[in-house]
Amino acid sequence: MSNIKVINPATEELVTTIAADTEETIAEKYALLRKGQPAWAARPLSERLACIEQFYNLLEAEKETISLSLTTEMGKPLQQARNEINGARGRIRFFIDHSEKWLSPEWVNSEGGTKEKITYEPLGVIANISAWNYPYLIGVNVIIPALIGGNAVFYKPSEFTLLTGQHIRDMIYKAGVPENVFQMAAGGGAVGGMLLELPLDGYFFTGSYKTGQYIASKVAPKMVPCQLELGGKDPLYVADDVEDIDKVAEAALEGVVYNNGQSCCAVERIYVQEKVYDAFVQSISAQSAKLVVGDPTDPSTEIGPLSRKEQADFLKSQIDDAVGKGATIVAGGNPVPAKGYFISPTILTGVNHSMAVMKAESFGPVIGIQKVANDEEATQLMLDTEYGLTAAVYSSDFDRAEKIMQLMNTGTVYWNCCDRVSAGLPWSGRKHSGLGATLSFAGIRAFVQPKAWHLRG
Ligand code: NDP
Repeated sequence: MSNIKVINPATEELVTTIAADTEETIAEKYALLRKGQPAWAARPLSERLACIEQFYNLLEAEKETISLSLTTEMGKPLQQARNEINGARGRIRFFIDHSEKWLSPEWVNSEGGTKEKITYEPLGVIANISAWNYPYLIGVNVIIPALIGGNAVFYKPSEFTLLTGQHIRDMIYKAGVPENVFQMAAGGGAVGGMLLELPLDGYFFTGSYKTGQYIASKVAPKMVPCQLELGGKDPLYVADDVEDIDKVAEAALEGVVYNNGQSCCAVERIYVQEKVYDAFVQSISAQSAKLVVGDPTDPSTEIGPLSRKEQADFLKSQIDDAVGKGATIVAGGNPVPAKGYFISPTILTGVNHSMAVMKAESFGPVIGIQKVANDEEATQLMLDTEYGLTAAVYSSDFDRAEKIMQLMNTGTVYWNCCDRVSAGLPWSGRKHSGLGATLSFAGIRAFVQPKAWHLRG
């Protein structure tokens, strides 16, 4: 059994080591889940919901401990770790309050010779292979509705947030979910690969396009549901009629750098109409220069380290590529600690779509800003991407913004806001950003299968 090192990205110090699963332990855990799932599904929905309510309460009770643990292993500023747990609780509340409506049997026709109804049955034992950037938020998107729907869950957190994975597992058990209904797989990509070899009844993945595409190809012959929540290259357009350019710049900057820029729906490229371009660039650069980069446990810190060392190198290569092709760095160089995977928030102008920073997902506090002549040019550039997660338009005129939003081939559009997710709305990506939806009614129904009943007599 190999050991996984948990490294604090702010200090590069070893926090602890955790034993990885092996083929044998994965097979044992799978056998447990297969055995436990039918009894869990047979329990009344109210009993399953009572366990989830307990989990909801535990997240609040243990918030300080688990927030610090999350910050220690992945580097997000501590207040943002607390915010993530608050956000996760909000999503759980949505699932508790709305699941009965979407999972109860429905009579389509209850009169006459043939009666007809629909019931919703669990998929069975499902896998949740998850990313490290928001482990609570993306974890609850899958784990909670899957358990409520009567499934057993084989949960593989990222090896970069294993402590959080363990906290989630322990709180799930403490909340009353039996061990033969929820199991955690500890390990890296190889352990994720072991889950792909099992005859599971559904695969729910959050992560990169590259891994998602591989998983989809492995799962396809099994003919079971496979949902993918993948990356993005989300555009934000600033039209020339915005009322307060400083406020727009502030919102855009937050969309770029929140969670150290490691959000699937982070603002990844900005287009600004030429009349307001100079004012916008000046404002966002000045605000960026004031961002405090440093120890993520210090309350004054706004940007912590990146979670992985390779990511800092990757971002530097995107910056070098852009500068090599003619871009200008207009903000960057904020002081960063000598140790740790830190990168100064960097703003580039003079960019175009020949540069990687405008086409490939950055996933860090780096942004390119491109000047455009009008809405048509902005629309064309916004659509020039393989991704389709979100797109944002800032304008004081809704009709003008709506025309652009209607043309976006994305799962989500924003008017005068960005980088946000709501439990009541479906969260879905198009093209290389994913398949299927979580959250909302769609994210409850995703974990069950309908059965049609034709009843005579
Ligand atoms: P990865 O694709 O690298 O990893 C995701 C998960 O897959 C991890 O648990 C990883 O394990 C596992 N994995 C890696 N290789 C394999 C394999 N061969 N077989 C099975 N499992 C495997 O993504 P990241 O963790 O780096 O996450 C960042 C990406 O996630 C970004 O692209 C981001 O945009 C996207 N994302 C999308 C969201 C959305 O809602 N659309 C939300 C959050 C993130 P391990 O980490 O242990 O190596």
